Amino acid sequence: MLDFVVIFTKGGVVLWNSQTSGINFSSCINSLIRGVILEERNTDSKYFEEDHLAVQFKLDNELDLFAFKEKFGSIPALERLGSEYDFEGEFRSVLTAAEEASSKQVKAPKAMRSYNESQKSKKTVASMIQDDKKPVEKRVNIQESPTQPKSRPSSSPLTTDDIIQENRRKLREKLTPTKKSADSKLSAPVKQGATEKAGKKPRVWDLGGNSKDAVLLDRSKDSPEDVQYQSVNNELVGTMHGVIPDLDVEDEEDVDSAEDSSEEDDMNSHSLAPKKDRRGGGLLSYFRGIVGGKTIVLADLKPALEKMRDHLISKNVASEIAVKLCESVATSLEGKQMGTFDSIASLVREALTQSLVRILSPKRRIDIIRDALESNRGGKPYTIIFCGVNGVGKSTNLAKICFWLIENDFNVLIAACDTFRAGAVEQLRTHTRHLNALHPAANHNNRTMVQLYEKGYGKDAAGIALEAIKFAHDTKVDVVLVDTAGRMQDNEPLMRSLSKLIKVNNPDLVLFVGEALVGNEAVDQLVKFNQSLADYSSNETPHIIDGIVLTKFDTIDDKVGAAISMTYITGQPIVFVGTGQTYADLKAINVNAVVNSLMK
Ligand code: GDP
Repeated sequence: MLDFVVIFTKGGVVLWNSQTSGINFSSCINSLIRGVILEERNTDSKYFEEDHLAVQFKLDNELDLFAFKEKFGSIPALERLGSEYDFEGEFRSVLTAAEEASSKQVKAPKAMRSYNESQKSKKTVASMIQDDKKPVEKRVNIQESPTQPKSRPSSSPLTTDDIIQENRRKLREKLTPTKKSADSKLSAPVKQGATEKAGKKPRVWDLGGNSKDAVLLDRSKDSPEDVQYQSVNNELVGTMHGVIPDLDVEDEEDVDSAEDSSEEDDMNSHSLAPKKDRRGGGLLSYFRGIVGGKTIVLADLKPALEKMRDHLISKNVASEIAVKLCESVATSLEGKQMGTFDSIASLVREALTQSLVRILSPKRRIDIIRDALESNRGGKPYTIIFCGVNGVGKSTNLAKICFWLIENDFNVLIAACDTFRAGAVEQLRTHTRHLNALHPAANHNNRTMVQLYEKGYGKDAAGIALEAIKFAHDTKVDVVLVDTAGRMQDNEPLMRSLSKLIKVNNPDLVLFVGEALVGNEAVDQLVKFNQSLADYSSNETPHIIDGIVLTKFDTIDDKVGAAISMTYITGQPIVFVGTGQTYADLKAINVNAVVNSLMK
């Protein structure tokens, strides 16, 4: 029995519905749009189930409509909808015929499905970890807070926006080349290094406690301005308030010219010169064989999609996700009327970009500055816990984030809770010294901008973090950054102790630090950290990972797949990207940069 037929646009605007029953189907249709169509998850099955309702759907790519469309045959659908065409009548007669035909077939009543046969039982652990309903979200999403913004305890009664604007203004002032800074070699970003003092090498942070490196790191004699940072608004991650620069976007033209040069190679392919690897020719070149002037069917796309999948895998995109991305491109192209190669190329680019935007766009907003201000107004320090396996860059990127916070006028307490690895405390002490040298108290109304809370080695990390947060609370420190010992994702006792540390200290944010260069391994780490935090917490709503710090992005060239895989599988946003070994090498993810790297 067909209860309901609806025609709606991809964005959810209902154009027509059959209204045959009094039941309200809107919640089911909304879930379909939100969970399947917009996210492009599982659109290939064209089947969706929720609350005992089964929905079958079909996308018309020509019109971007979801509907039953069999009867639209030869007459262009828009023409029909716009004219006096009796859609209702036609629909009723088709429905009656279909129902009569089906009633003639004697069917055994459908047995109720067992739990094991249900969709729910097929949910993977990873999908179950994506818990949108965690209470911590409420805490992070300030828009949901019923309280009015209050002023920071120690300053004038400004609103949140005032303070943010003021901080932005200060930062802008710093970043605007004044005469002094223009004269100074340091006003330009690192990349434009032409103004860098001759002979000055970038900082090398080999932080294993080697004294030679310690001298290299000791920039306390340098001018405080001797630090380079950039300020760009972060659109994708959303609300970093102009402080964390986006990843650099490679010019689209560069990507396209790479494709053009591959086309030239193809044209000269009868020469004896060795043929350039097609992978170097860019992802769009795989679609070159599809000729224009006809409606695209899946069979036309298949060979190109297979190459595209391999291309994505070669960029470190997890294979399952590469397949999903290809499916989503196929869904967007199927049924479209093709023009020239250019239009195919632009359609593929557009479809891939849309999918990646969906994957990389955070499902929830993480706005550290705003939330820290809010916390401080409530008389509490804002607490971030960093976790991850050994050597991924936890301490280094914690120090970069500390630098960014200081630049935004927050003072910070670093809690040295890696009480295991020799040298871990000293590494943080070195950072503390450097950061204070770069931002002396004299420049911040005699506030010491970074302090280290440490109790040496071998002690209980959860207890040290608790003491540190209390100390920060008592002494009105704005932010506490908790460094934790590296641990392997499969080490149960250590994962239990991390879960305890998080439970006991109830931080505002838990950041997972993972290397971009290990690709699928980073995905495995993230999934298992999440799972362990959920499994080993005795809380009903355990605090799992809130966001990702993706490090060593500068070392992966165009193999940017880890960024996509990590966010796709867990739904957690990439909050920071580490791009090198200076305090300024902290960026925000940028979807265009990622797309361009994948296209190459
Ligand atoms: P931890 O054990 O996770 O705390 O890792 P560390 O912070 O000690 O970092 C390990 C190594 O990775 C150090 O040599 C860092 O300088 C280096 N590192 C950290 N982040 C980055 C990054 O974004 N890019 C590069 N190239 N190296 C990094």
